[in-house]
Amino acid sequence: MGQHVNCLSRNMATGSDSRTGGPAGAQRGAPPRASGGRGPYLLSMTTVDVLAVAAHRDDVELTCGGTMAKLARQGHTTGILDLTQGEMGSRGSAQTRAHEASVAATVLRVTLRENLELPDAGIVNTPETRLLLAKVIRRTRPRIVIAPAPRGRHPDHRVASQLVRDACFLAGLTKLDPDYPPHRPLKVIHSVTFREDQVKPTFVVDITDEFETKLKAIRCYASQFDGTTQAGEVYPNGEPLYDIIRHQSAHYGALIRCKYGEPFFTYETMRVDDLTALDVSTF
Ligand SMILES: [Zn+2]
Repeated sequence: MGQHVNCLSRNMATGSDSRTGGPAGAQRGAPPRASGGRGPYLLSMTTVDVLAVAAHRDDVELTCGGTMAKLARQGHTTGILDLTQGEMGSRGSAQTRAHEASVAATVLRVTLRENLELPDAGIVNTPETRLLLAKVIRRTRPRIVIAPAPRGRHPDHRVASQLVRDACFLAGLTKLDPDYPPHRPLKVIHSVTFREDQVKPTFVVDITDEFETKLKAIRCYASQFDGTTQAGEVYPNGEPLYDIIRHQSAHYGALIRCKYGEPFFTYETMRVDDLTALDVSTF
């Protein structure tokens, strides 16, 4: 009860639902929500087709925001789970970032956005954190989960990558948690935008039509990014951050012969049924 009230007051402070109408996805009949804490887990049964899990608010926008916007446009339900509140960030308070995340969720038209409230700069992969995350997986029942890249500049990104994989597996164990039925996502894919240590992405999503939406979502984090030249996994090159993002997205797009793209990695091999349907020209 106390946690629920805490969550409500946080939403009221950010105005996430009442002023913005909440993150979209309401077109699918799902109740728009953007919670700040763990409280409502037993109070909502909103499910999503794709759940993106990241260490920090703004990570999803930076790495796979275009893909999230595209999924929503294609009619899929989407959700974002931020693992921390960003309280260790040198710019902007956690409350400011909560409001920014809520507005960005609306831009990306995600059905739900929640926060696991793990310690910023202190994410660990333990039985306790795996259980917390597995409960969200069981409740939201995604078919696809997007996780951070397997490596990263920030330890939270690297740890979160493995934590997500482990929690997705545990979520399928019958005896794990009596509150929700078992659910194991079909796939975990890793967003490798800005990473230099992936030899090649397994695939790139064409976000040409969604790039400006991605940038609009990133610009919601004015407290983090306005006037900066570096963020998250983005190494600085002297240009404004927004320009770096555009150039990097153009690079990934060029890999599949389109204007803008976002790269992903899977450990599984991709399957092809019809060779003649392959695209991306060799020449
Ligand atoms: Zn991050």
